[in-house]
Amino acid sequence: MRIDIITLFPEMCEAVLNESIIGRAQKKGVLEVQAHQLRDYAFDKHRRVDDTPYGGGMGMLMKAEPIALCFEDICEKIGNRPHFVYMSPQGKTLTQQRLRELSEMDNVCVLCGHYEGVDQRVIDEFVDEEISIGDYVLTGGELPALVFVDALSRMTKGVLSDELCFTDESHYNGLLEYPQYTKPQVWRDKEVPPVLMSGHHANVDKWRYEHSLINTYKKRPEMLDKKELSEYDIKVIEMYKTNEG
Ligand code: SAM
Repeated sequence: MRIDIITLFPEMCEAVLNESIIGRAQKKGVLEVQAHQLRDYAFDKHRRVDDTPYGGGMGMLMKAEPIALCFEDICEKIGNRPHFVYMSPQGKTLTQQRLRELSEMDNVCVLCGHYEGVDQRVIDEFVDEEISIGDYVLTGGELPALVFVDALSRMTKGVLSDELCFTDESHYNGLLEYPQYTKPQVWRDKEVPPVLMSGHHANVDKWRYEHSLINTYKKRPEMLDKKELSEYDIKVIEMYKTNEG
């Protein structure tokens, strides 16, 4: 997958995306992330990327033309029109399900807004989808874009060592992950559940599945309303409720 980011702060994106798992994936060649400086596409007399909003009001808005020119340049460079995402608090909240669908794409372009946002006309003209990372407002789209790109990259084939790394995790199948433990076996009088040391894989899988259900019931019960639960799932939760009570 190739991801292009349109931003006023490319160094901010590069600093994060060239590190750790995403950085290694880029070196391996399974992922390419390019951050583009929007100012390089401001060709008016004052090379401005922002201006005051019509109708008055606080703050500045990002101008349409530099964004259009930058996006068109990216399309030309990669010989394809990427799926164009605008990070926006007005978008649909990002979910693992949406990431799963987007991870099938070859090219994604992400626009980071700033100031009061972006001239509506460039959104109407080019943007395929607005994505929010939650119902709160940040100063700019760089942090949301980094959240989005990180989450999207790790779903891309070859980025993680094994697909199990994400299929087994919270939200992939509508449940939260089970509790996990590492060495030592006893820490401050607290023991690791014995089944995890039994070496019996079927029992470990059963324990993990049941505790995934219980964890979801305890922390995010509303997630279970959206999931089709089997009779067995309901029995596990009922047993937990009885023992808890
Ligand atoms: N005036 C805009 C509004 O009320 O919808 C908010 C603009 S915000 C201060 C500046 C930029 O930060 C936005 O253009 C967007 O790119 C980004 N941003 C802020 N909060 C966000 C969120 N929750 N999710 C995604 N992007 C966000």
